[in-house]
Amino acid sequence: MSDVAQAPVVVARFPVISQALVAGASAQLRNMASMGGNLCQRVRCGYFRDVASPCNKREPGSGCAAMDGMNRGHAILGGSGTCIATHPSDVAVALVAVDAVVHTRGPGGERAFGIDDFFLLPGDTPDREHPLDHGELITAIEVPALPVACRSVYLKFRDRQSYEFALASVAAAIRVEDGTVAEVRLALGGVGTKPWRARRAEASLLGRPADEASFAEAARQELAQATPRRQNEFKVELAQRAIVRALNTLASNTLTNGDAR
Ligand SMILES: Cc1cc2nc3c(=O)[nH]c(=O)nc-3n(C[C@H](O)[C@H](O)[C@H](O)COP(=O)(O)OP(=O)(O)OC[C@H]3O[C@@H](n4cnc5c(N)ncnc54)[C@H](O)[C@@H]3O)c2cc1C
Repeated sequence: MSDVAQAPVVVARFPVISQALVAGASAQLRNMASMGGNLCQRVRCGYFRDVASPCNKREPGSGCAAMDGMNRGHAILGGSGTCIATHPSDVAVALVAVDAVVHTRGPGGERAFGIDDFFLLPGDTPDREHPLDHGELITAIEVPALPVACRSVYLKFRDRQSYEFALASVAAAIRVEDGTVAEVRLALGGVGTKPWRARRAEASLLGRPADEASFAEAARQELAQATPRRQNEFKVELAQRAIVRALNTLASNTLTNGDAR
């Protein structure tokens, strides 16, 4: 993770990926961890980790203690009646925003997945988080040359500034022409059961003035589909504010590399 975060081509052409990597875990962890391991890390839900609690992800059919339990950190997007655990990866959010492709090799040969298809919604099978077969490994992550990504940012909001998972995060890239949004990429972390491509917000923004009113309306439309639980309702507002701040940061020309961390 550290190698990728510091690679000159990543810093220059995909700042959103570099910043998302640096926002994750700690320097020591990033020095040891791999990109494949980061994408495939298991969720941080306390009930998943506590073998004394029911958890459909750990033990299908046993129930989900998070539904009415301690769910402050849980997902408000993409949940099902079986699981609301939040996807933990930061860099996956950036990779979803730029339409990365995950290449794999396994006993059945080589495969490639658009990254949005690589992460599975919990549905009725929350124990399946990705489509990898037993023995299949990620061999490469391909990022398409995407000019809009040169102007991109990753913002992460969490309980403390380091060594902490996101309560909400945003990967954003935008191209503005004559004051209107000509191209935009948005993805959310910390709020979804998978890294969440904010397609409703993107659709709302295209062709609209690149101003705070448009950004707020796009954020409102994306989060209108949220289904918060008792303790995580604050994430609806937090995610909307995060989207607006990320887009304002990009549109206002004040961005300097590293600002977003
Ligand atoms: C305290 C703590 C805080 C953290 N905070 C954050 C954070 O804020 N943001 C964030 O994004 N991450 C965070 N992480 C995750 C961390 O950055 C690592 O990504 C994670 O721990 C995985 O480590 P690893 O790469 O050594 O993978 P491993 O632990 O070796 O592997 C993780 C899983 O992935 C599988 N795997 C590994 N490589 C491949 C491959 N090539 N193909 C298929 N499967 C593979 C393994 O079999 C295993 O199931 C945190 C971790 C810890 C422990």
